Amino acid sequence: MILPIVAYGDPVLKKKAKDIDKDYPRLSELIENMYETMYGAYGVGLAAPQIGLPIRLFLVDTEPFAEDDSFSEKEQEQLKNFKRTFINAQILEEEGDEWAFNEGCLSIPDVREDVFRQPKIKIQYQDENFDTYVEEFDGLIARVIQHEYDHIEGVLFTDKLSSFKKRLIKGKLSNISKGKIKIDYKMRFPLMSRKR
Ligand SMILES: [Zn+2]
Repeated sequence: MILPIVAYGDPVLKKKAKDIDKDYPRLSELIENMYETMYGAYGVGLAAPQIGLPIRLFLVDTEPFAEDDSFSEKEQEQLKNFKRTFINAQILEEEGDEWAFNEGCLSIPDVREDVFRQPKIKIQYQDENFDTYVEEFDGLIARVIQHEYDHIEGVLFTDKLSSFKKRLIKGKLSNISKGKIKIDYKMRFPLMSRKR
């Protein structure tokens, strides 16, 4: 089932999300619905707060990047096969010199900006079966994980922009909150007027 994606301005996107355990109600159905929602919107990642749930759960599938020729063949192969569910994630380390990449977000349609992030991370997380892993990632995979991880920490990529850039996109962001935007996937807008 495709779930509506929460738009910029909803308080749930600003909340630090909470850990969950095996007993979380209908978790496998929720994860399935989140994948369907992410693919339906052509996203490469989706975090639970984006569908209105302040819990530490996010998904990543970088396959759409595999067709981008600006990456090496080896990277394309990695991107093609990287699909993972992260539960109760904690980034343990981030390192390296920050690099810029043009990011977007399903909760902030039509806004794309360069965001600086460190290239390497070490992260602890649990998978769908609540098995615990500690793994290292780098490059674009690390970046997508960092973006989704920020969501469960209540941070959006627009929070990381310079105050000058923030000023430039202010009007656009306010229109998104009000639903004054054209999109081809289901969304929920915090400030949409219910009057017709
Ligand atoms: Zn996002």
